[in-house]
Amino acid sequence: MPLTTLSQSSLQDYADCPRRFQLRYLERLSYPAVESEPALENEKHLQEGEYFHRLVQQYLIGIPAGKIGKLANTANLERWWENFLATPDFQNLRGVGNLLPEAALSAPLGNYRLVAKYDLLIIENGKAIIYDWKTYRKRPRNEWLAARMQTRVYRALLVHAGAHLNDGKPFEPEQIEMVYWFAEYPNEPARFTYTSAQYKRDWDSLVKLAEEVAAASSFPLTDDRTKCLYCPYRSYCDRGVQAGDVEQAEAEMEAEELFDVNFEQIGEIAF
Ligand code: SF4
Repeated sequence: MPLTTLSQSSLQDYADCPRRFQLRYLERLSYPAVESEPALENEKHLQEGEYFHRLVQQYLIGIPAGKIGKLANTANLERWWENFLATPDFQNLRGVGNLLPEAALSAPLGNYRLVAKYDLLIIENGKAIIYDWKTYRKRPRNEWLAARMQTRVYRALLVHAGAHLNDGKPFEPEQIEMVYWFAEYPNEPARFTYTSAQYKRDWDSLVKLAEEVAAASSFPLTDDRTKCLYCPYRSYCDRGVQAGDVEQAEAEMEAEELFDVNFEQIGEIAF
């Protein structure tokens, strides 16, 4: 089946390593078994991160916090959940007018549809706030976050395809803010506002990238071997079977993103 959708994950893969994009999205290879210790520990952490997202989602749809707390049954989950409940921004969330957990948007992008699923969108007083929960062990640099496909795709797509959330009028980029909230660093969220110039730059570069993907006939291995440290496809590329040192913080964070929802397996929302 040909590839029909692109997401922040697949575009990030393409930008990081065309070979990874090919293995994951074109050949649809499942991950080989993880064998080495740091990777196993990393995988457990990723599963907890995924579970934490489910807990917050349950909370946002109205399940009582006490009930959800009982499901936070590992040390990490318990700490993240307590941090979430103690964060002032989230204490009155359920009273907010237009709260959209797990909202999905999509729009045509060249030969593809660009899709995104947001952990939480809040539309309030003429503003749209995008929240994304992160369970990274380390607080990434804002510069690293700003350059991520997720930051660019999520804001641009909300402008491009979010009119139905704003009484039929597209959001102005200046109405949009994206907030990464870190479960380990609850008081140090990263906030990114948006401007019309940034939106134009982002959308133009996404269109260009989609054209490049459509025209690509070869998918070279990345020259940047730090990208391979946590890559689940190492054994396909002769780049070592041993997972990298867990201290390689940014490589690890990039690895977390690799486990993000695979949108190719999710039905599209049509507009
Ligand atoms: S191991 Fe390295 S070269 Fe191979 S797909 Fe992963 S990032 Fe790319």
